[in-house]
Amino acid sequence: MMRLDELIEQAGTIAVLGHTNPDGDCIGSCLAVYNYIKERDASRKVTVYLEPVSAKFAYLSGYDKIESVPEQCPKPDLCICLDSADKERLGMFKPYLDGALRSICIDHHVTNSGYAHENIIDANASSACELLYLQLDEAAVSKRTAECLYTGIIHDSGVFKYSNTTARTLEIAGKLMKKGIDFSSIIDDSFYKKTYRQSQIMGRALLESVTFLNGTCVFSVVYKKDMDFYGVTRSDLDGIVEQLRLIDGVECAVFMYETDVMTYKVSLRSKYLVDVSRIAAFFGGGGHVRAAGCTMTGSVHDVINNLSAHIEKQLRENRENSDV
Ligand code: 5GP
Ligand code: MN
Repeated sequence: MMRLDELIEQAGTIAVLGHTNPDGDCIGSCLAVYNYIKERDASRKVTVYLEPVSAKFAYLSGYDKIESVPEQCPKPDLCICLDSADKERLGMFKPYLDGALRSICIDHHVTNSGYAHENIIDANASSACELLYLQLDEAAVSKRTAECLYTGIIHDSGVFKYSNTTARTLEIAGKLMKKGIDFSSIIDDSFYKKTYRQSQIMGRALLESVTFLNGTCVFSVVYKKDMDFYGVTRSDLDGIVEQLRLIDGVECAVFMYETDVMTYKVSLRSKYLVDVSRIAAFFGGGGHVRAAGCTMTGSVHDVINNLSAHIEKQLRENRENSDV
């Protein structure tokens, strides 16, 4: 097994990939490895390829160097894949992995099957950033790289509150704080801050949410026409499903938004009993035990009915084995 440092050392050109609809952990891990490589050798050809990234991450060093358009026949010496559970999640940048001489995947999704040459997968890690940190030379992690890593960790751990947070997560966060980062601003500006429109659409989604299975589950849906009305895009919907999950008595929250005719991007969250990654995987998606997603087709009624059957089954089975 080759170490990340060795692979980087031997590569002339490096492509760094994340997943479609990039989130804080994806962006943070990609830019962290970019800064880490560039700071050690500015002449090294390394490029981060991601779908357009939300402007709220513009404070991260390297943000303005992100490429959003793939080349024709890419052949990088090394392809580094971060936070992406499978090849398909690499989206339009998948050819970089296929054309690469060598590849390494660093990821924390249970559903990851190890699609690169070298695979560092740990489903117990809070984030790809936590795993990536463990691969880096601690002394060579700069304040800028620390800002990227800290951003990824707080996003995937919900600012250290999700069940994926461990003592190791906090130890690493502590080491990153020691690099002099402005952690309060990072948390406020990239995680909690909302534009007026984002607040409005969240309010609307909460107002129109519906509970099912005797109040143990809740769902809400945002249609394309609503998104157009409020002038929002999919990234403006971040945080809605987490808010639904917080509702008293709710074990499982479902949030979905329309991406096409009869097509919905579904986000699933749970508290204690339901393994939502299994449900998402059944419908062609994936993710983690308490946070997962997939794309589903049909009417909203169909989608909820299909999900509900799986949730109910798990609730029934898991209640028998627990006293929650
Ligand atoms: P979210 O609900 O925030 O979009 O995603 C929650 C988690 O599930 C994330 O870790 C994300 O990587 C994963 N996830 C969401 N959608 C999909 C999907 O369509 N396929 C796979 N494999 N994972 C997904
Ligand atoms: Mn992640």
